[in-house]
Amino acid sequence: MNIADLHSIFLEFPNVCTDTRKITENCIFFALKGDNFNGNKFASDALQKGAKYVVIDEKEYAESDAHILVDDVLKTIQELATYHRNQSSAKVISLTGSNGKTTTKELINVVLSKRYKTIATVGNLNNHIGVPLTLLSIQNDTEIAIVEMGANHQKEIEFLCGIAQPDFGYITNFGKAHLEGFGSEEGVIKGKSELYDYLLSHERNVFLNADDPIQLEKLGSYIKKFGFSTEKHQFYKIEFLGANPFVKIKAEDISINSQLIGSYNFTNCAVAVLIGKYFGVPMNDVKDAIESYIPENNRSQILEKNGHRVILDAYNANPTSMKAALENFKEIEGKHKIAFLGDMFELGETASKEHQNIADLAKQCDFADVYLIGENFNGVRTSMKTFVSFDSAATYLKEHPLKEEADLLIKGSRGMALERLLDFI
Ligand code: ATP
Ligand code: MG
Repeated sequence: MNIADLHSIFLEFPNVCTDTRKITENCIFFALKGDNFNGNKFASDALQKGAKYVVIDEKEYAESDAHILVDDVLKTIQELATYHRNQSSAKVISLTGSNGKTTTKELINVVLSKRYKTIATVGNLNNHIGVPLTLLSIQNDTEIAIVEMGANHQKEIEFLCGIAQPDFGYITNFGKAHLEGFGSEEGVIKGKSELYDYLLSHERNVFLNADDPIQLEKLGSYIKKFGFSTEKHQFYKIEFLGANPFVKIKAEDISINSQLIGSYNFTNCAVAVLIGKYFGVPMNDVKDAIESYIPENNRSQILEKNGHRVILDAYNANPTSMKAALENFKEIEGKHKIAFLGDMFELGETASKEHQNIADLAKQCDFADVYLIGENFNGVRTSMKTFVSFDSAATYLKEHPLKEEADLLIKGSRGMALERLLDFI
């Protein structure tokens, strides 16, 4: 079946499923394959659970008219997404970068949805399957689609740009994340810049953080750019008023008090303001949108637990975001500060050096106490507390409960799931 015909079916049955545990009535099920599963085997099950059609790529499973046989299911869902995106008049804004993509995506979405019909990446569905699924959620009346793109190796963003064909783009930052796949920081810059490469070669628009020297160097002479800066006059001025603990910014004499902690959230808020400005959202609506936004999923949340003030940033960690979190924790007003830091994953050969650097930085911060948790942190040279695993840290806390009320920072990679510490403090 060609893509145009498949698209006609999709328009009639616009719900797409890729997981038989989440089948919705009259959806189209795409039988994707993974390392450990073959979706073709679940096609009949999907039909029984209410799917209208199943798209498969192994002939032996084509049992009825409801089975649509294609050469490659993954390629088909990607091509269908591009076709659908091109049939729509929605503008596509793509985001990539090492840190802050999801937060920025959500901030842009709350701002733009004040005036436009928008769709945005759900959660963190930002890869070669998530990006097509996001594009397939574009509705008839969608005006702007905000698409998060993740990558951990070269050419991935180029590939995702080919699928999403963005009209606009923004790179949150170039940091030390996924060094294993990118090889080096230079590799990260090159890989993430594939978004710029696409936009520039197609003469599309770029949003930029003009305070970032790398972005400025790459885009300085490009005409179709719209940037923010805390000082540079030719760009839209957005001031950083502080993060104590919540980020406050100012644009056009309007102060915006976000509910986001960590000075690193300044740029995430600033670009949302910039994009709101570009699309003509009134500044009071921009303010209202950003002030109402509360982050979820352990991303820089602030909460109370047994008299402690907890900065829960356990969603993810890499050297750049860890450093930003420590510096921020040091700056905020507080008395007895304790940092619980968990291993940072996917660092490849640089892992021991990067963990040592973070341990040294934590030491310099002079907090009341620091707990370094995980196999990597357990290997650093330090006089601070180290624990080889989450369990050993938890056991220690059970035996030595925190005595005085304190400010706590909890941060580590997703695999460490350090939010579990909340049960022990
Ligand atoms: P993922 O790679 O998992 O998709 P992401 O890029 O979408 O991550 P977020 O989920 O928005 O990033 O934020 C994850 C964490 O990164 C935050 O909790 C915070 O610690 C840190 N962070 C967010 N924004 C920035 C930024 N601009 N610079 C540095 N660190 C940041
Ligand atoms: Mg994300």
